[in-house]
Amino acid sequence: MITTHALTKRFGRIVAVDAVDLSVREGDRYGFLGPNGSGKTTLVRMLLGLVYATSGEIEVLGRPIPKRVAEVLPDVGALVEGPGAYGHLSGRRNLTLLDAAGPGGGRRTRRKRVGEALERVGLAHVDQRPVKAYSLGMRQRLGLAAALLRRPRLLILDEPTNGLDPQGIKEIRELLIELNQDGTTVFLSSHLLAEVEQLGTRVGVVDRGRLVLEDDLEALRAATGRVLVGTPDPAVAASVLDGQIEARDGDRLVIRHDDPAALNALLVGAGVRVRSIDAERRTLEQVVLAATGPGSDRFGGPE
Ligand code: ATP
Repeated sequence: MITTHALTKRFGRIVAVDAVDLSVREGDRYGFLGPNGSGKTTLVRMLLGLVYATSGEIEVLGRPIPKRVAEVLPDVGALVEGPGAYGHLSGRRNLTLLDAAGPGGGRRTRRKRVGEALERVGLAHVDQRPVKAYSLGMRQRLGLAAALLRRPRLLILDEPTNGLDPQGIKEIRELLIELNQDGTTVFLSSHLLAEVEQLGTRVGVVDRGRLVLEDDLEALRAATGRVLVGTPDPAVAASVLDGQIEARDGDRLVIRHDDPAALNALLVGAGVRVRSIDAERRTLEQVVLAATGPGSDRFGGPE
């Protein structure tokens, strides 16, 4: 859906995007993760033909960008740096105007399409308030509704949850997952590790303009070969598993083993009561830290 090759953008002496090879596949929910100032917005704008690359290549939906961007845009919904909207008009009126340039249809079809888009982003019941009276979160939702009007194959969103409260973030996450399950590929940038971890199926990590990591979340979070066991009988468990215990903290044991089910059977067979048993997985934070070195705290936590 999106590929870039050696994509580079310089602003004078600043290299905002540095030789990035990106690969977003059909059906991905791709989280493009990086701290503030790492080049995310610049890259997103290049994907949409809003900023020209200094060098390198971009393909979106199989077409070279910016050369054939006009052929691609009807299939792409985008939210970049806050939605543009007419502040004195209501959200519904703004969408109606936007929709006039969209896929067409009669008046009723259009009204229905606008209504559905507002409904999907949770703005169906806002009154006639002009957009200038909207909160930042409501503006983000309106921008997303505008992106949805086209029923896009691909959504490109720059920090879509900026300005939303936790409930709003959750709603947008659920919406994006739902759209993705209906077939829309989702590419979004974020500086929040937790957001990408909860939403993404694939992640690209950008640090100072360079893509330092790109992989499926599942693969990144592969089991570590250790199992975490909670038991009220830690001493008995320790004698059964002599030599396999890596750490013990009260009734929690860390055991070198790669099959929780087999380990459970072994423990239960030896009369150990097992309260919980889980394969240990690395968190995205640990993976990012390993890829970027010290300073991964520049990637934001929940705000
Ligand atoms: P944020 O999340 O804060 O928006 P970002 O990851 O999106 O950050 P960019 O906005 O792409 O990062 O900026 C990357 C670098 O390029 C920064 O050092 C920024 O100052 C610089 N930059 C971006 N746009 C311009 C511009 N038009 N002129 C000069 N420098 C720019």
